[in-house]
Amino acid sequence: MKHDSKNIMVILSSPSGAGKTTLTKKIQQKYQSFKISVSHTTRSPRSNEVEGVDYHFVSSDKFKKLINDKKFYEYAKIFDNYYGTLKENVDKTIKKNDIIFDIDWQGTKQLSKFNNLNLIKIFLITENKDELKKRLINRNQNTEQEIENRSKSFDEDIKHWNDYDYIVINKNLEICFKQIENIIQNCKKNLINSRIVL
Ligand code: 5GP
Repeated sequence: MKHDSKNIMVILSSPSGAGKTTLTKKIQQKYQSFKISVSHTTRSPRSNEVEGVDYHFVSSDKFKKLINDKKFYEYAKIFDNYYGTLKENVDKTIKKNDIIFDIDWQGTKQLSKFNNLNLIKIFLITENKDELKKRLINRNQNTEQEIENRSKSFDEDIKHWNDYDYIVINKNLEICFKQIENIIQNCKKNLINSRIVL
C-alpha cells in the first residue's frame, strides 16, 4: 500500500446503530479533504441506499471472486453478509485525500497489519445496550430479527475496544462530532510537525 505521508486514514467502528454513518458523512461534509471509503457488500440495499455511494452491492459469487483474486485489503462476514474494502479504491484515493472507513473490528485488525499507514482507529459507542436498541428501532431500517441480532452483537463488538486508539461515547451528536474533529485535527497537526526539519 503506497501512502502519502500527509494523508491520514480514519477508521470509525461501532456497534450498528451508534451513529457512525451520520458522523462519517458530517466529517466528509466539513472536511473536503476526506473521502469516505465505499465498501463492497453482498447485503441487499436498503430503500434509502444508493449503489456506489453507500456501498457497491454485489452478488456472493462476485464477492468470492474478489476474495480469490486478492482484491481486498480487508473483508469480513458480518450478520450473514460479506463486507470488504477494495485495494484499488483505497490506493487511488489516498494519493490525494484523507480516507474515512466505516468498518468493523475484524477489518480494523486486518488494516492495522499495514504498519506504514497514518491510521487513527476510533471506536464509537452509545451509553449502553438499551440506547443502541432504541436507535435501531427508531431508524426503522431493520427487521425485528435484525434488530435483535445487531443489539446482541454489542457485547461482542465492545470486547474489541482495546484494538482502538480512541473510544468516543455518542451521547450527544454535536459533542461527539467535536471530539472526533479534535482527534483528527491533532493527528494532522502532529504529522505536519513531525515533517518539519529544524
Ligand atoms: P450495515 O449493514 O449496517 O451497513 O453495516 C454492518 C456493519 O458492517 C457495520 O458495522 C459496518 O461498519 C461494517 N462494514 C461496512 N463495510 C465494511 C467493510 O468494508 N469491511 C468491514 N470489515 N466491515 C464493514
